[in-house]
Amino acid sequence: MARKNRLLFGFIVLFFIFCLPAAAAEEFVLLKAPAKLPKAICSSTGSFVVQELQTCSLVCAPRRSLNDLQKAGAAFEIAFSLEANQSYFLLHSRHPQPLLPGARRLKCLQLEAGIWLLQARDPGFRAWLAEPFSLKALRLPPIFSGSDEAGTVSPRADQAKTRARLRPEAEIAVLVAQVSEERLSNDILALQNFKTRYASTPQCEAAGDFILERFQEVGLAAASDPFAFESAYQSKNIVAVIPGMVAPEQIVLACAHYDSYSNDRFVLAPGADDNASGTAAVLELARILAGEKFDFSIVLLCVSAEEWGLYGSAHYARQARQEGAEIVGVVNLDMIAFPGASQRVLDVIGNYSSEWLADRFIAVAQPYVGLRLDKVINPSMVWSDHSSFWDQGYPALCGIEDSDNPYYHRTSDTLDKLDLGFAADATRAALAVVADLAQPLGVLMAPTGLQARSQLSLALFTSRKTVYLQWDAGDDSQVGFHVYRASAAHGAYERLTGQPTAVNMFVDPLLLPDQTYYYVVTAVDQNGRESNYSREVRDDENN
Ligand SMILES: [Zn+2]
Repeated sequence: MARKNRLLFGFIVLFFIFCLPAAAAEEFVLLKAPAKLPKAICSSTGSFVVQELQTCSLVCAPRRSLNDLQKAGAAFEIAFSLEANQSYFLLHSRHPQPLLPGARRLKCLQLEAGIWLLQARDPGFRAWLAEPFSLKALRLPPIFSGSDEAGTVSPRADQAKTRARLRPEAEIAVLVAQVSEERLSNDILALQNFKTRYASTPQCEAAGDFILERFQEVGLAAASDPFAFESAYQSKNIVAVIPGMVAPEQIVLACAHYDSYSNDRFVLAPGADDNASGTAAVLELARILAGEKFDFSIVLLCVSAEEWGLYGSAHYARQARQEGAEIVGVVNLDMIAFPGASQRVLDVIGNYSSEWLADRFIAVAQPYVGLRLDKVINPSMVWSDHSSFWDQGYPALCGIEDSDNPYYHRTSDTLDKLDLGFAADATRAALAVVADLAQPLGVLMAPTGLQARSQLSLALFTSRKTVYLQWDAGDDSQVGFHVYRASAAHGAYERLTGQPTAVNMFVDPLLLPDQTYYYVVTAVDQNGRESNYSREVRDDENN
């Protein structure tokens, strides 16, 4: 009897030691859930969308909330239980079976055509993946990373149209005409000559230093921004800034990854198309735009460790969100020099919230280039750095050749295979849209200090929204202002003022209470000339 009691006591002690701490830690699961999962369901159950895809979404949910999710009508399938010592990736592969035989320590689950969710323990797992493949490392708060949001952007019903441009095309045409095929070729060769730019190698770091010097040579303020990845490794992003003259906090960003990958990556990974081509384009933008003046700031960003899982861009985009950076739009260039045998097509890839940017890209750039620009709206295209910006809720797109490069991720991805005319056109396209978004500084200053407040007024049978706008008075160069409104961010602006208003405020009454509105203002001089748009504000931005 006494012995039995001791045993029981021992058992209870063991139970407290081993079981309670496990019960106290919140347990999370990864779910394959329907695409476009309503935000309300997520927030009411403490779960969040890790990745929006075309046919489904990947959701991280507390295990205790599974019943609630079910009750809310979400049909889901449990992919994995999250484990603290594991890493999670999205894997893109064209192979029907993306793991090589014998890959016992890896788990993977197909999410949609060509896309798998992968659970792995150490960096060596890559040896068990069938080449070629692409990876996107997933960051899964709250377990691993604390509090920052994995922002996904819900599709918008009203897709923005491309707005009419105020600026004469002449200024942008002058800039576009400076793109040089020869310089692109030289830069691609210089990057290729590092032999490998596989992130974690000294050669990759040297390539980063080279890019930093190139930015500085053209007179830009530039810096390297180091980051760590997969616990054992380090690399760095290289960032250059052309500060805006009117609203420098508004940022237009062009980026490309400079690291490379191949079947012999520690020795030889020339990565001429992937992605010396995009990097050379960003360097060309730096050279041409460095001496120019724009309303908004232009950031030129060359990131590293893209090939490992988009680590460099994730680092940058996460930090930008934490600092509250106002990024208007991101143009990512990745593989822009191999158009394939017959086609001269550059795909412009966006997610639902970035469709306005893709439309804008095509409308602005098409007149300057001999290649065809095809819009692709597909949130599953996450295999390059634009997707790190999507994750933080920024509009971003990727310009990429519409072809299968047979040298992709091979030691044979070299300059001699490339079509530099195509690369030059892709560079012209990117340059045109970056300049257009940042607005070349006009003769008349765009208004500054625009603020918006909205107020709901409840009448007996109806409720209406009134928006109050106010901005800096400016100087004597203008005689009045025009006010524009759109129902989607950077959408088709509608002018609200018939004659320019002489005062620096405006009231927009009788608006739909559930609709969000966006505003810009312009200044008008005595000859009727109009300035660029001010920065855009949301109707409740200053509530
Ligand atoms: Zn790439």
